[in-house]
Amino acid sequence: MYKHPLIDRDKMTPKEALDILVEGNQRFLNNYQSDKDFQSLVQITKDKQHPFASILSCSDSRAPTELLFDQALGDIFSVRLAGNIASDKAIGSLEFSTKYLGAKLIVVMGHTGCGAVKAACDDFRDGHIGEIINFIKPSIRHETTVVNKADRSSKNADFVEKINELNVRHQIDTIIRQSDIVDEMLKEKQIAIVGGIYDLATGKVNFLEDTYIG
Ligand SMILES: [Zn+2]
Repeated sequence: MYKHPLIDRDKMTPKEALDILVEGNQRFLNNYQSDKDFQSLVQITKDKQHPFASILSCSDSRAPTELLFDQALGDIFSVRLAGNIASDKAIGSLEFSTKYLGAKLIVVMGHTGCGAVKAACDDFRDGHIGEIINFIKPSIRHETTVVNKADRSSKNADFVEKINELNVRHQIDTIIRQSDIVDEMLKEKQIAIVGGIYDLATGKVNFLEDTYIG
């Protein structure tokens, strides 16, 4: 069921936060939306917010987090950058949402067919786009298992999806390595972090269970 923002989120566990997202994505898959009174939510949330989850995801227009998890105002602290990259500003946003707004779960969510990941595979650079690519490049350098090593470009869809998943894992590592706040809250079991890939073809978010820390 859709959880109302008035629920006391301080009592919510990180695992319960993940369950709410999984259930919400299932409603999305079933083409069902929970009832939401947006105008009443505007009033309820006008002075403060209590997001239960903080999601670092791609800016891709086909992957809007609130819609695909069937959530409403005040539910998700949404950090969106092409390639779901953990830039210092993204990490600062995640720190703010967890330490000061009480979000219980950080999700790093990539998606299939990500243009930023494809651009990184092809080392595409123009304007400031290269600054995004630089955050994805380490995953390409560390990738050594793709059978068809002859084609490590965006033309190889299997390679792109491999890098996509490695990129989610790499951004999680970056967040934990660079953020004392997140690292401390994870150790104190105050929050959890998990990776996932949104499938553009099915609408399903596949969480990478082995990335769950918390
Ligand atoms: Zn993308």
